[in-house]
Amino acid sequence: MKYISTRGQSPHMSFCEVLLSGLAEDGGLYVPETYPAISTAQLDNWRQLTYPELAFEIMRLFIDDILEGDLRHLINKTYTAEVFANAEITPIRQLKDGLYILGLSNGPTLAFKDIAMQFLGNAFEYVLAKKGQVLNILGATSGDTGSAAEYAMRGKKGISVFMLSPEGKMSAFQRAQMFSLQDENIINIAIKGMFDDCQDIVKTIQADAKFKEEYSIGTVNSINWARIMAQTVYYFKAYLTITETSNQRISFTVPSGNFGDICAGHIARQMGLPIDRLIVATNENDVLDEFFSTGIYRPRASHEVAVTSSPSMDIAKASNLERFVFDLLERDATEIGALWSKVNAGKGFDLSRSLPAMRAMGFTSGKSTHRNRLETIRSVYDSDQDMIDTHTADGVFVARQQRQKNEIMVCLETALPAKFEQTMHEALGDHVKIPRPARWENIEQAPQRVEVLPNNADAVKMLMRERLL
Ligand SMILES: *Cc1c(COP(=O)(O)O)cnc(C)c1O
Repeated sequence: MKYISTRGQSPHMSFCEVLLSGLAEDGGLYVPETYPAISTAQLDNWRQLTYPELAFEIMRLFIDDILEGDLRHLINKTYTAEVFANAEITPIRQLKDGLYILGLSNGPTLAFKDIAMQFLGNAFEYVLAKKGQVLNILGATSGDTGSAAEYAMRGKKGISVFMLSPEGKMSAFQRAQMFSLQDENIINIAIKGMFDDCQDIVKTIQADAKFKEEYSIGTVNSINWARIMAQTVYYFKAYLTITETSNQRISFTVPSGNFGDICAGHIARQMGLPIDRLIVATNENDVLDEFFSTGIYRPRASHEVAVTSSPSMDIAKASNLERFVFDLLERDATEIGALWSKVNAGKGFDLSRSLPAMRAMGFTSGKSTHRNRLETIRSVYDSDQDMIDTHTADGVFVARQQRQKNEIMVCLETALPAKFEQTMHEALGDHVKIPRPARWENIEQAPQRVEVLPNNADAVKMLMRERLL
């Protein structure tokens, strides 16, 4: 299996090379040269598999430069009942109205990003040891990505993490989750500024080719192919759990931001998983809903991004969309290059002519508001005594609106309510206790470790020089 860039101007690479690199040299994203095809007979053979067994069968189709025994070991070490607090890893439950909820948020940081990131941590450690290399991960976070990365990389040999976050802007729980880590290789840096400032510092340092080379600086953002690949597994798992035969079709609604999660669903569908529809759910930051309803992609300026109660979906542009549009345009790398040079110039593009093709690929979309979220959280609690978080509520709201008669619909649960207590109380009242997994009780009281720095790339570089591997 070789990987190619969506812009067609970069050398082909193997899985392990793609794993450690971010963007392709030409600015594109890596995708497999072809998607492996899964027959219905093969799907039926997989029905009895456990999550790690299924993950192995799927990932081996995309990875041919890790020995099979080693890959199996990496997967078995990742997907355990201890790490994901559940033997099924991604358990499914059904609400009284028939909607299924796919539980993806039982990992260490209570959001779905753990599923891919935990694998990434183990895969990084393995590949770096083989190559005799080290990696210093530099990132910026407003919450979920940073903590998922830190909990995946903590204590790993050959890896350190420098994570920038805006001082005082994350929730108390999110701060406690990250800053209470005492591992030597995790360095939390609070910047006196906003999230965008943190991102700008990362970009400035990334652009310093000499510094980057000298210190092997890498990233773990959502454009990493291995993350998308690891996420395809739970679409298969959900399908095999719900259906009895492989001629049934099911649909998914996915709370979306950077388009990573639902891109994995698209790839599962391209591989032959009988998915009927893939519904993109956004919050007020509706750049994706606009694209899938009009064909016009209009990335927002950062000042146009609203701060919402589903903050992990507050995005100005959706980086992984490029992978989908590459397939939509029948893998025309030249056109992708032309479209994204418009995006890089701060403009958008119009693919309204491709709307029929988008529908044929299963895609539709919807959006929700703060009020929709609160009402959905309340209504699910009233009918099922079940608590869903604000992001999952975006999905459930859109799924309920769009679900057709007899359509089997699965909504992805992308975080647990414990992460967003304040909005949960706003929806359910102060008297309702928001459940917290035992390991997070009193986390706010644990000692915290964080370096506070001015909004300045040189200050960050200076600290990095002291602590780099
Ligand atoms: C990251 C995140 C999302 C958005 O996922 P994408 O892959 O960026 O589309 C949704 N919900 C939660 C809780 C997240 O952390």
